Amino acid sequence: MMRAWDPESLLPYYVRKFQPYTPSRPDQELAKLYRCEKIYRLNNNENALGPPPSAQEVIRRFEAKRAAVYPSGDSYYLRCKLGKKFDKDPDQFLVGNGANEVIGFAIKAFCEPGDNIITADGTFAVYEWTAVFSGIEARLVPLKEFCFDDEEMLNRIDDRTKIIFICNPNNPTGTYWNLERLKRFIERVHQKAIIIVDEAYSEFVEKDDYPDGMALINEYPNLVIFRTFSKMYGLAGLRIGYLVGSVETVEVIRRTCIVYSVNTMAQEAALEAIDDEDHVMKTRAMVREGKDFLELELRKMGLTASSGEGNYVMIKLPMDDGLVYRKLMRSGVMVRTMTGFRFPNHIRVTIALRESMQALSRSLENIF
Ligand SMILES: *Cc1c(COP(=O)(O)O)cnc(C)c1O
Repeated sequence: MMRAWDPESLLPYYVRKFQPYTPSRPDQELAKLYRCEKIYRLNNNENALGPPPSAQEVIRRFEAKRAAVYPSGDSYYLRCKLGKKFDKDPDQFLVGNGANEVIGFAIKAFCEPGDNIITADGTFAVYEWTAVFSGIEARLVPLKEFCFDDEEMLNRIDDRTKIIFICNPNNPTGTYWNLERLKRFIERVHQKAIIIVDEAYSEFVEKDDYPDGMALINEYPNLVIFRTFSKMYGLAGLRIGYLVGSVETVEVIRRTCIVYSVNTMAQEAALEAIDDEDHVMKTRAMVREGKDFLELELRKMGLTASSGEGNYVMIKLPMDDGLVYRKLMRSGVMVRTMTGFRFPNHIRVTIALRESMQALSRSLENIF
């Protein structure tokens, strides 16, 4: 008799313990499930204006038969373009299938079981997940007043700490470290670990003291910056993001990077999108307006929100976030529950066009 097939027994212990993430269902399925006509996607911090017009044009004109041909394996032209734009060597960039993929490149390059990474508890969870399912300890330092706690993060460093992840501005709280604070932190870490600053939302920040990670790379060889085309540039569905660091650091991360993972259309759309300053201005204006509107509405309802930088706001609720999610879904308003981000009774909502903000505020009013 053959024993029942038990793939679990083949797993490393750290994968056996790991729970997979379940993404939400496609919009059409959710619309059926919740019996709503329209879905307002306020759950993923997407750009309601879509990609810049020039990138849309590239996508429309893409020749179908080119789908049979492999893309550039290392996003050659895009790296050249980024190099020119940010005054860097093209070899300082590694492009991935979303910034999500480059998190894995960095962790695989530097960490082995027994090592640790340090980040916050209330932040983008993929740093933690990628570490944990790779057998790496994730040291999660509690946020302090919704902000990354530099002192405590420094305290947690030991000789097995390989990477420190800082989300700046932080998803979901919107807080950020200013230039002085970031520089001080990097200097106090010395070169004992890689410091990764995730700037997924940098293009939304309008504050003067917000640090431009790109500029700091010249000063600090152990600094790595993540950026993405998913948020400001509206290309989330094509999956493209990148990391940038000193030539020496990127050279070693290249060993664990997956080549050919970024499709041709994404590379070509990104090439156009990156130059569209007008799109950045329009999106910022939409976010500013949407935030002002929503903050006022929330205040009228007596709800508190932490709205910092970024195209999202986190709202504190007087009840369970899962329950509010289901209630909002009945009117097609899809938000992100925050229990999984360690903020129970909170939701995060994307700032989008007026119509969606009104739908959200109407539905919240009905609930409370
Ligand atoms: C959305 C997001 C990313 C990654 O996005 P990709 O779509 O994988 O490029 C990375 N970091 C943060 C903080 C994000 O919010």
